[in-house]
Amino acid sequence: MMRENLDNVRKNIRKACEASNRSTMDVNLIAVSKTKPVEAIREIYDGGVRDFGENKVQEILKKIDRLPKDIRWHMIGHLQRNKVKDIINRVCMIHSVDSVALAQEISKEGIRAGACMDILLEVNISGEESKYGFTPQEIAAVTEQIASLPGVSVKGLMTVAPYTENPEENRVFFRKLKQLSVDINEKNIDNVSMEVLSMGMTGDYEVAISEGATHVRVGTGIFGERDYSK
Ligand SMILES: *Cc1c(COP(=O)(O)O)cnc(C)c1O
Repeated sequence: MMRENLDNVRKNIRKACEASNRSTMDVNLIAVSKTKPVEAIREIYDGGVRDFGENKVQEILKKIDRLPKDIRWHMIGHLQRNKVKDIINRVCMIHSVDSVALAQEISKEGIRAGACMDILLEVNISGEESKYGFTPQEIAAVTEQIASLPGVSVKGLMTVAPYTENPEENRVFFRKLKQLSVDINEKNIDNVSMEVLSMGMTGDYEVAISEGATHVRVGTGIFGERDYSK
């Protein structure tokens, strides 16, 4: 069942790449395993996936110790500053940097651990009040500010688009995020690359790919519905 889902998602990614003349090598699938047990993750791992996304520090730490060491863990959820030290060096990238203070904390803990953490800056591209992230207006200035921190390396931008039944409605947001990354890239800021564009979830990853996503974060489409009652 889950392996079939995975095959389907991969097929859809391939089709979306072909339709927009992109190489499938340029689109990375992150299987979002939050709330799912290690057995389910293992099944998807056995299908060849090595990138997994989680949104809670405690949950990542619990799972890391029970799963193969070559998994690349992606922190994709809102991160509290006091939890940063627990995951530094344990995740390959933090997608959800949504304040300068958080970036400063990651830098500080990164230096302490002798690491330089790869981070993405989260942009609230739709302006929804419930969403985390920098505004499109401030993101360029914020990127320059964060670029000067020695313990982090800015790799690109991330966004969570609104929930919608019609993925086409999110195209405008994906296009805007891509344009922001192009604009920032043109500034040639030291210590900043815009190689990663993390956007697109189960409901809209094909549209995100056609607008330039390099990392899609798919949970439900692979693992099935989440049960938050447990
Ligand atoms: C849960 C989550 C996802 C995956 O959502 P699905 O709709 O299940 O694919 C992607 N990104 C973030 C930031 C999430 O919290």
